[in-house]
Formats: sequence, C-alpha cells, structure tokens
Amino acid sequence: MRVQVNTVVHGGNVAELPPLVLQVLREKGVDVWEVFFLIRTGRGTGVPQISMEEYLDTVLWLSEVGRPPLVRTVEGPLYRAVKANRDAFRRMAGKTYRHLRETSAALGIEIGPPSPGQVGTHPHGGTLFISHSGDVYPSGLARVRLGSVMEEDLGTVVSRSEMYLPPEVSSHLRGGRCASCRFRYLCGGSRARALTETGDYFGEDPLCPVVL
Ligand code: SF4
Repeated sequence: MRVQVNTVVHGGNVAELPPLVLQVLREKGVDVWEVFFLIRTGRGTGVPQISMEEYLDTVLWLSEVGRPPLVRTVEGPLYRAVKANRDAFRRMAGKTYRHLRETSAALGIEIGPPSPGQVGTHPHGGTLFISHSGDVYPSGLARVRLGSVMEEDLGTVVSRSEMYLPPEVSSHLRGGRCASCRFRYLCGGSRARALTETGDYFGEDPLCPVVL
C-alpha cells in the first residue's frame, strides 16, 4: 500500500516544519509528500501567510530534496519554474533557505540533486474538484462554481468554462506579473491565491517573489 502525507506550509511553521516532517516521512517510509502552500480561505482564513522570500526559499529547498518521498507541491507552482532554473533562483535565496538547509543537515537529512521525476502539480493542469452535492470547481481551493454534474454532464461544464483550459490558460492571464512572465507556461501562478487575495482568478499570484 502506498502512503501519502499532506502538509500545509504557513507563516507559523515554515522555518522548522519541513525538515522535521521530511525526517519522519523518511523514517516511516512514506511514498508521497504533498506540500500545500496556504490559501487563506475556509479553515485557512486568518492563518498567517508566509512571505515572498519564505515561499521562494521553501520551494528551492524542496527542489533539492531527493527521493524518497516523492515531493509534490499544491498551490506552489513556482516549484516547476525553480526546478527548471535552479541556479538562477538560488541566487535569490534568503535566510530561510539557509536555515532549512542547516536544519536539514543537523537532522542528518541528505540534500542533493533533485530526482528528475519530482513534479509540482500545475495549478490548472488536469484536475477538478467536485463537491458532495455535485458542484464543480477548478480546484478545492478556488471556489468559483463552474456548474453542477447534477444538472449536466461534466464535459459540458468543462467545455463552457474558460477557467478550465489546461494548456491555454496561461494566455488568459491578465494584469500583474504573471501575464508577462517568461515562466507563465511552466508556473502560471496560483489561481486560487490570485482569486482569494486579489479577487481575480486570472490576476497575479501575490506571493510570487519574481521581479520582472
Ligand atoms: S510572476 Fe507568476 S508566472 Fe511568473 S514565476 Fe511568478 S507566479 Fe509564476
């Protein structure tokens, strides 16, 4: 049986929790570690958010954690851009990255070249959320109702919505840095965070540290 553990990274645990969790997951032989970056909606409302620097530093550290477990990020699409351009992003690393590396070393956690198979989930790439009552959303954290499978078939709901266009959604980005960013096809920013923090599903991911 394959085992997956999910962790939410937020302003209260970013500096210490990742290495501690990873140590436990390796000891327990967990297969997949899904790392969620906080979206302040629902139960996350009022939870402290990490800073832009902490977001980059955590993603950078995650990109250097070899398997096991397989690391996947959720609402952390910067992971994909960092993995593809690690040397460039490492030049932007801050004190949290250094702290995470030092904490890892103190715990005996091996940090090295990332496994080529590790990926971050694309924020708009092939997943949907369907609630218990049949309502369809682009994700569980982007609560924009696209339709209902109780009223029509899923294909009809998806084909009508510009919010579920996996390959093309990057060309729908408007305003802010994401729309003109060279990483938009790799990363694209968190649509759930853009919606929650700015009210615009296709707007800028406000947690991104990239300066254009
Ligand atoms: S500006 Fe947007 S697309 Fe570019 S790296 Fe940041 S979050 Fe990703």
